[in-house]
Amino acid sequence: MECDNWDIDIIESKIHMWTECKNNGQNLAWDTVKLIWQKTTMRAWPDVTMGLIRGATALTFEDNSSKDSERLRILISMTIWAIWKLRNKNTILDLEAVPSETRDTLKELIRDLTRKSWNATCFMEARRKLERQNAIKTLWAHGSFTDFDPKTGPSVDFT
Ligand SMILES: [Zn+2]
Repeated sequence: MECDNWDIDIIESKIHMWTECKNNGQNLAWDTVKLIWQKTTMRAWPDVTMGLIRGATALTFEDNSSKDSERLRILISMTIWAIWKLRNKNTILDLEAVPSETRDTLKELIRDLTRKSWNATCFMEARRKLERQNAIKTLWAHGSFTDFDPKTGPSVDFT
């Protein structure tokens, strides 16, 4: 993967890396989170800009009963991490990295997060457990994007 714009000290390079590059899979990753978003809320997917990326940690919607702002923060930070990971593999470790790896990393991060947050409720006291599980179900759209089947365990549907 050859790319002239990997220098992270220059702001244009960050824009390039996170929103424009054709070689690092960023587009595939953003497509994936957009799909997740559409399966989890009626709210429109925002334009991916540096403003959105930088402001992600402080992001809140007025009505947050659907946990949209929390989900959006998670999706953005995980996408950034997946893009960054591929960049490091390519530039620091000097390993061959293909763009689809960014998307695969992202999917694995989300699978992992849903599974771990669900499993973490396992030993909670009954009432707290129910509250927490309901919150997780809302966050990850149980029945649409995820299925938190008590028998088979959490599964995620990226289709
Ligand atoms: Zn590039």
